[in-house]
Amino acid sequence: MISRELRDTVRRAYHFRCGYCGVHENEVGSELEIDHFCPLAAGGSDELSNLVYCCSACNRHKSDYWTADERRQLLHPWRDDWALYLREAEDGRLMALNERGELHLRRLQLNRPQLVAVRLERVAQRDNVATLAALQGEIVRIRQHRDELEIRLQKVEAQLAQPDN
Ligand SMILES: [Zn+2]
Repeated sequence: MISRELRDTVRRAYHFRCGYCGVHENEVGSELEIDHFCPLAAGGSDELSNLVYCCSACNRHKSDYWTADERRQLLHPWRDDWALYLREAEDGRLMALNERGELHLRRLQLNRPQLVAVRLERVAQRDNVATLAALQGEIVRIRQHRDELEIRLQKVEAQLAQPDN
């Protein structure tokens, strides 16, 4: 039985996101579950290093999957560099780069339509932030130009006001 304290430690350690698919508990609308990466039945412990904060869908798909063969293990959120195994395509789907990536992707079904939608939303958000930053830069440039024109206008007006001219 995992204590409330340990559960919260795991939540914080995973930044309140599923260690496998990345959904935030706010997106799911509830606390997530605790997965034993190496199941208790296979000798896994309640050590933090063996606990993965995990949404119910990933937990269900992973189930009691375990093998001592490291080449056939699922990717651990901390111990494995996922970029070596998986890549996110432009359509929001994950693509396996090799056999172990393929195993992980299939077992956890990480191209569930809802996950693809979440990934696309994140990409769109990043694009929006970039567009906003570009527009803010444009506004600064336009204001500077307006100020320069204002100064030139004042000079012309001053010249016109001179009786000699
Ligand atoms: Zn998940």
